[in-house]
Amino acid sequence: MNSCSPTPCRHLVLILGDQLDEASSAFDGLDPSQDCLLMIEGAQESTHVWSHKIRTTLFLSAMRHFAETLVARGWRVDYRGLDTHGDVSLAVGLIAALEQHRPLKLIGVEPGDCRVRSDLDTAIETVAAQALTTGGHSLDRLIEWREDRHFLCSLPQFKKWAGKSTSLRMEFFYRQMRKQYRVLMDDSGEPVGGQWNFDADNRKSFGKAGPQNVPSTPRFEPDAVTRDVISLVNEKFAGHPGELDQFNWPTSRAQALQALDAFIKDRLPGFGPHEDAMWTHLDFGWHSLLSSSLNLKLLHPLEVILAAEAAWKERDLDLASVEGFIRQILGWREFMRGVYFLDMPGLKTANHYGHQNALPAWYWTGNTKMNCMRQAIRQTLSNGYSHHIQRLMLTGMFGVTAQIEPQQVCDWYLAVYVDAVEWVELPNTAGMALFANGGRFTSKPYIASGAYVKRMSNYCSGCQYQPETRAGAGACPMTALYWNFLDMHEESFANNPRTALMVKNLQRMNDAERNSVRATAKHMLLHLNEL
Ligand code: FAD
Ligand code: SF4
Repeated sequence: MNSCSPTPCRHLVLILGDQLDEASSAFDGLDPSQDCLLMIEGAQESTHVWSHKIRTTLFLSAMRHFAETLVARGWRVDYRGLDTHGDVSLAVGLIAALEQHRPLKLIGVEPGDCRVRSDLDTAIETVAAQALTTGGHSLDRLIEWREDRHFLCSLPQFKKWAGKSTSLRMEFFYRQMRKQYRVLMDDSGEPVGGQWNFDADNRKSFGKAGPQNVPSTPRFEPDAVTRDVISLVNEKFAGHPGELDQFNWPTSRAQALQALDAFIKDRLPGFGPHEDAMWTHLDFGWHSLLSSSLNLKLLHPLEVILAAEAAWKERDLDLASVEGFIRQILGWREFMRGVYFLDMPGLKTANHYGHQNALPAWYWTGNTKMNCMRQAIRQTLSNGYSHHIQRLMLTGMFGVTAQIEPQQVCDWYLAVYVDAVEWVELPNTAGMALFANGGRFTSKPYIASGAYVKRMSNYCSGCQYQPETRAGAGACPMTALYWNFLDMHEESFANNPRTALMVKNLQRMNDAERNSVRATAKHMLLHLNEL
């Protein structure tokens, strides 16, 4: 698909794999007759973490579909595919393209990943240095990074909001965003329904009967472009985790819009109540499955939010469901991006508790006796997806109480989910799930015993461990490691009003019970791979 002539062009415009938006600032002021677009399939993007085959396929297929659209609109696109240009990194591909096109200016939208930004800046400096020594022009003065307009809160606005606070709370940020965009606000400037947050209504389990009348999700049959990518990925990344038989993610804006319509019509009405619930073989429930389309920029967050708000008005939908959904996008998604850029590079190496254990090998296979983890990982390997609570309260929570080194857990999350891009993955994993940043934006670590898993799912009934047993034979690892973690951090948990009750329960144990929990947990921690 290399439809860009190698002769000099005026502007060379780099479009990264998660910048697939024709309305992005990269296109401002361009002229298709003088400027050339550059897209590179960087091999390293699939190998710097051991990327799931579905994640790689989605990125490459979406990039190729986007390039096709651009060519059809008359743009010149220099597309450097893995199959046509070999296994080069983004940086090496960029250097080659700069040398070939010798543009007057290189334009790009600010990358959403600090690693990518730093690699590209280094590549540009290299070319600039060469150009200087050969008497050419200095490219470092000619690169123009443009703001990513996809987001509803700019980075300077977020920085201003955060000020010098050491502790940030999403809820207050979210309220400001609701006011700024006048979403779910009444005419007097108050939140509709009289409150900002209906979270308390959205934490129901499915009960014994299990999920009822689950709506179906749309099917996106792989087309020729996606089938080519599937063959390429199966060949080049054969040993990587995951399977491609069930690939079913939107790879173009048209499909992303179809996914949005299907969600608004069928699943938004029931989104809220069981948002946190889990059930064997219920892979998607009422969740939107829009994160990958949003993160690739196939969808704009405001169009998703406004579609949900309009449906609430027109169809009199449950406000708790609609508000709960909108909060995830207008609140959490924007907040996480702000925090990422505020707290990097420290967030990448944060390790508040000094955890050093290795990630159990079964995170990559699902071969564990713990049924809850087996189910969440099975879903992840089959679909590149699990929902928020599975990520937070199963695979994430185990990472904390099993004292796994945060960077290993973060690399796993970045590898296995279709929506994984570092600006959103890292704050969620290191910050929210692992408390690795010491609670910068969470008031307590998200930890619970097997009783929580039992209440919110049917996983325990298919498990060889017993959720109530915290020590000895049959002890549930979630439960034993939870009590052990509380025991280890008793003082700090006792001093936090949000966790003081947990410590009170811990203190009901006598010394013998505590010792027995410690011994069971110690054995588990030494044999994490065998759990
Ligand atoms: P829904 O449940 O339907 O929610 C709607 C939308 O809200 C999502 O599409 C997403 O864009 C946004 N959203 C919801 N929760 C969050 C959140 N906590 N942070 C940011 N946006 C949110 N989300 C990613 O997009 N990429 C990641 O790499 C990622 N890693 C995560 C790692 C951990 C440990 C945890 C706990 C959460 C992570 N999330 C991540 C957030 C969330 O789990 C996913 O956005 C969500 O599960 C995607 O599924 P969905 O589209 O069906 O979401
Ligand atoms: Fe998970 Fe424990 Fe329940 Fe098994 S018993 S499914 S390990 S919480």
